[in-house]
Amino acid sequence: MEGRKAFGWAARDTSGILSPFSFNLRETGAEDVMLNVLYCGVDHTDLHQMRNEIHSTNYPLVPGHEIVGEVVELGPEVKKFRVGDLVGVGCIVGSCGECSPCQSNMEQYCPNIIPTINGTNKDGSFTRGGFSSAMVVHQRFVVRIPENLAPDQAAPLLCAGVTAYSPLKQFMGSNRVLRAGILGLGGVGHLGVIIAKAMGHHVTVISSSDKKRQEALDILGADAFLVSSNAAEMEGAANSLDYILDTVPAFHPLGSYLSLLTVDGKLIVVAAVPKPLQFDAVDIILGKKAITGSFIGSMEETQEILEFWAEKGLKSFIEVVRMDYVNKAFERMERNDVRFRFVLDVAGSNLE
Ligand SMILES: [Zn+2]
Ligand SMILES: [Zn+2]
Repeated sequence: MEGRKAFGWAARDTSGILSPFSFNLRETGAEDVMLNVLYCGVDHTDLHQMRNEIHSTNYPLVPGHEIVGEVVELGPEVKKFRVGDLVGVGCIVGSCGECSPCQSNMEQYCPNIIPTINGTNKDGSFTRGGFSSAMVVHQRFVVRIPENLAPDQAAPLLCAGVTAYSPLKQFMGSNRVLRAGILGLGGVGHLGVIIAKAMGHHVTVISSSDKKRQEALDILGADAFLVSSNAAEMEGAANSLDYILDTVPAFHPLGSYLSLLTVDGKLIVVAAVPKPLQFDAVDIILGKKAITGSFIGSMEETQEILEFWAEKGLKSFIEVVRMDYVNKAFERMERNDVRFRFVLDVAGSNLE
């Protein structure tokens, strides 16, 4: 059947360079949704997978896990979507459905998740991400894009946004103004600032240099900016933060950040770091501080962040580019030369 062919861009080897690639889509099963991809976010994890830096990449690899598309076909048992609906797909497209995390709506912690890229579907085929014309995804892993949310705006929320929202949700609705720290100002960090502000928190951005001060304060609306290499500034802010969202994907000793936390404060790690993180026991004993982690978010939370965004009229900062620019976009992302996230206009690109 002619309609089952999809066109995407794929990495062929560890150079990670993307080029056109066509493949067959699997059949739309009883509980599957087929969508035509409109937009897809560009993330560091894509790049690591493209270069085989995480774990054995199956080439050709079609990246992309912040996908917004339009429903074009439905399996007979899908009741919650209609053809023409705008929908989103994030980092995972399958899980076992039976383990305790799956049963309690925390499918991201299922030991058998099927990742959107470089995973294996239940029928044995490889998963292909959103740098492609179309996808077939089980309905459990498809969310609805709210009507008053622009589809390109929605894309970064599906991985970066929910990665920040899921751990911050526990602080929502506090009866006092919480003091938040956001460490790192990339894709996740910038959305973390916006989400924490929208929750009414007092937000301090912590960065290794002064370079992002103006972006943090003037563009993202943070309340304060702290340079981590400035000992006097760090000392002045000691014991002042209720939590820190740590989004830095590179090695950094935690001691100086833990000193910023107040009694009972939490440091939440959301970025994988290639080396063990470091801290002294007294850094957490004195002040009853906690170091904790969080991995993306559940499908329920993915739906929630989209609605939260639409309801509050929030805006992510994106640069929309076409597929023929994608290799350049990754190059610039690596240099931190994007404010703050690239989104591919997949439907507006020539993929062949
Ligand atoms: Zn499971
Ligand atoms: Zn991601």
